[in-house]
Amino acid sequence: MKCVICGGNTQRKAVEHKEFGISLGMFKADVCEKCGEAYFDEKTADEIQRKSKEKGLFGLAKKAKVAEVGNSIAIRIPKEIATFMNIKKGKEVTLFPEGRHDLRVQV
Ligand SMILES: [Zn+2]
Repeated sequence: MKCVICGGNTQRKAVEHKEFGISLGMFKADVCEKCGEAYFDEKTADEIQRKSKEKGLFGLAKKAKVAEVGNSIAIRIPKEIATFMNIKKGKEVTLFPEGRHDLRVQV
């Protein structure tokens, strides 16, 4: 097949699929030789989703609103993410701005 992103040729190979930095295993995909984009067939995509649910990663990315607390602002961390990352009240975390549109929280 042709890559929909760059038009390059794809090659069938096994690739590791990660979600939130956690490996879900190796899966067969058509991988673009030019840009590296991986295309999974429907059956493989279902398998990936099943593994993702099994590991509690499915749908873990959540939207959060920024609130104001005194002179600073606060972002509520949804329960699912707090549990996944083992973040508890009183725990100290480090905030790393990664450019102007990305914020990394290191536990
Ligand atoms: Zn491509």
